[in-house]
Amino acid sequence: MNALTNYFKSLFLLELLRGLRLTGRYLFKRKFTVMYPEEKAPVSPRFRGLHAQRRYANGEERCIACKLCEATCPALAITIEASPREDGSRRTTRYDIDLFKCIFCGYCQESCPVDAIVETRIYEYHFENREDAVMTKQKLLALGDKYEAQLAADIEAQARYR
Ligand code: SF4
Ligand code: SF4
Repeated sequence: MNALTNYFKSLFLLELLRGLRLTGRYLFKRKFTVMYPEEKAPVSPRFRGLHAQRRYANGEERCIACKLCEATCPALAITIEASPREDGSRRTTRYDIDLFKCIFCGYCQESCPVDAIVETRIYEYHFENREDAVMTKQKLLALGDKYEAQLAADIEAQARYR
């Protein structure tokens, strides 16, 4: 019986017609195709893109070298070295994130007590050599300085989920 059903299905191209019916159903509906890169899809304030380090309004870096982010990182992507400054405050002398190891889980951001390390909305980047994949403290702070307004707004928007 099955063989007979399949024979008639093939003979009358029923599967093809079913497919065309589905195509026809969506032919005149609103299209969801985004013409990337000219058009961009909306990005959530909770998006976990490239990392950045933030500063306070007076220019002082937020990071207090507590190493919680390093301890919590499941991919062991963060390397921190720290020492006290002349004023006695503890600050990082090295803060690297290896993007080849990072899985963009966001745990570093969640664990940071002072909202220093954050993940931006940036997802368009590339590396030309292996060293570029290591986000150094300087690179992280530069990104933080550039996108501070957006980062502060995003952190405020997601405060209710934390
Ligand atoms: S996003 Fe996750 S994997 Fe990447 S550095 Fe932060 S904690 Fe580590
Ligand atoms: S980024 Fe945050 S969690 Fe990581 S060492 Fe600095 S203060 Fe601590």
